[in-house]
Amino acid sequence: MPTASNETTRSWSIDWTNVLFLGGYHLLLLALLPVYLIQHDVSASLVWGTAAIWTLCLLAITMGYHRLYAHVTYRVHPAIEMFLTFWGTVATQGSIFSWSHDHRIHHRHVDTDLDPYSAPKGFWHSHVIWMLKKRPEINPRIIQDLWKRPSLQFQHANYAILMVAANGIVWAGLWAVTGDPFGAFVIGILLRMFLVHHCTWFINSLAHMWGSQPYSTEHTAVNNFILSILTFGEGYHNYHHTFAGDYRNGVRWWQFDPAKIVIWSLSKIGLAHDLKRVNKLTIKRRLVAADRHLMMERIEELKHRIDVEAWSTRVEEAAASLTANLNGLKTATDKFQRMKDEGFEQLRSAKDDKVNEMRVARDAKLQEMRNARDGKLQLMRERRDEELELMQKRVEELKATVAEEMKEWKEMVTLVLETPESRLASVPA
Ligand SMILES: [Zn+2]
Ligand SMILES: [Zn+2]
Repeated sequence: MPTASNETTRSWSIDWTNVLFLGGYHLLLLALLPVYLIQHDVSASLVWGTAAIWTLCLLAITMGYHRLYAHVTYRVHPAIEMFLTFWGTVATQGSIFSWSHDHRIHHRHVDTDLDPYSAPKGFWHSHVIWMLKKRPEINPRIIQDLWKRPSLQFQHANYAILMVAANGIVWAGLWAVTGDPFGAFVIGILLRMFLVHHCTWFINSLAHMWGSQPYSTEHTAVNNFILSILTFGEGYHNYHHTFAGDYRNGVRWWQFDPAKIVIWSLSKIGLAHDLKRVNKLTIKRRLVAADRHLMMERIEELKHRIDVEAWSTRVEEAAASLTANLNGLKTATDKFQRMKDEGFEQLRSAKDDKVNEMRVARDAKLQEMRNARDGKLQLMRERRDEELELMQKRVEELKATVAEEMKEWKEMVTLVLETPESRLASVPA
């Protein structure tokens, strides 16, 4: 019977499988890599082959384990799922069940004691030590949507053997390409495993420590371009923790997020669907809120040198107006789109109805009805066009207001956050 002290002991007990596996392969790599490098020249085919395996493993973790399974931000064709599951298994990061389970808890309880890789516990804890401690059993309720799927159950139940087999296949493939079994093992399996592991682990450690926080300071997650390069797009972790339901992490078009490009491209050829995106205006509103928070903090910091009340009022008023206009613009844009869609739908169904009536009507009546239909359709079209024009005008007006206010807002953010303390004191609020 478990007692309180048993529970405590268990929560601190060591996960010997992980310790032996992770420690073992690190030591093996450390021993074999110098031997290999001294005895052999590294061939180009070995380098390129390993780079390809590394790319596929990381993409499978980023696109598959993370965005497809842990967050369900899009759906894919079963063939793509099999491909991602295979390479995710080669990546050796546990089953999709356990990965998604821990990751969903990480998001739900980020930075707290319940967060398995809680960053405030330090770099090494969030990077690797958390895996060396025994984790509680998987709670199926947390991954209910995945739990029922037979292919994922199969992967979970047979994980160890599948992981060894998948890596065996990859080793044999690389051996066939390079003709170098020892190199394929040391570089293609051990060194690649090391690189893929640490790149992914950096998202739990460095991506909660080293970078910027443009979207939110309510959690430790940061945006970091370098980590995005190392993980095919996962470095925009501040955005991700703020909007975890988005299939993109680098949400701006210029941000380095190859996974989002692959997912988007798959959707264009019909192999992915239901891509979830957060609305642009919602993201802008979030940015304004984060800026507002930073400015208020700075104003509070300088309270002995500047007129706090005047500055706070200025920031609050600008933030309130900008937020209200962003909300208005979102409502107007949504309504405009709805009107457009409904307008087309009405016209289409009106046309279909009339066509049916015409079919059963007598020939003599045909022309008369067609005229009536055309007149009616023309009227509907005109009315719709008028309404659309009005709505579009409203959207344009709001867009202009938001653009104007956004410009002033950015100037104010620069002024409040970047003006040296001594000079800010002499700037009137
Ligand atoms: Zn995180
Ligand atoms: Zn996530």
